[in-house]
Amino acid sequence: MGELSFSRLLCYRARPAGGGGKDMRDHELYTTILGLQAPWTVERVEVDLPGKAVHVWLGRTDDTPAPCPECQAACPIYDHREREWRHLDTCQLQTRLHARVPRVQCPTHGVVQSAVPWATPARSSRCCSSGSLSTGCRRPR
Ligand SMILES: [Zn+2]
Repeated sequence: MGELSFSRLLCYRARPAGGGGKDMRDHELYTTILGLQAPWTVERVEVDLPGKAVHVWLGRTDDTPAPCPECQAACPIYDHREREWRHLDTCQLQTRLHARVPRVQCPTHGVVQSAVPWATPARSSRCCSSGSLSTGCRRPR
């Protein structure tokens, strides 16, 4: 299957000819869509056109303390759990998020899974609704 540049597919109409730095554009796109903040970053983006899905791998840049979901206190990392989420679709492609989510050891609440920014219910995808992205939102052929 190989690795394709999703932003190139997504935004090929809106972008000037020539390209360059395509991988970083993919990462920046999903950083914006998911509202990621440090230390979370997009590690890898892979487009599975036959499966009509985009797989996005997210990771933390380091093992700095993460907030307890109950009391928001910064707690040391206990361990990590591999998780997958179905995010809002991106331009008719399923968005699958993969990440190793840290569990933290809170002195008050014990070992609990840290909250992740993209799993908050209130957040909605900005893709296909904001002007700059919607110009490129059509099924690639
Ligand atoms: Zn706590």
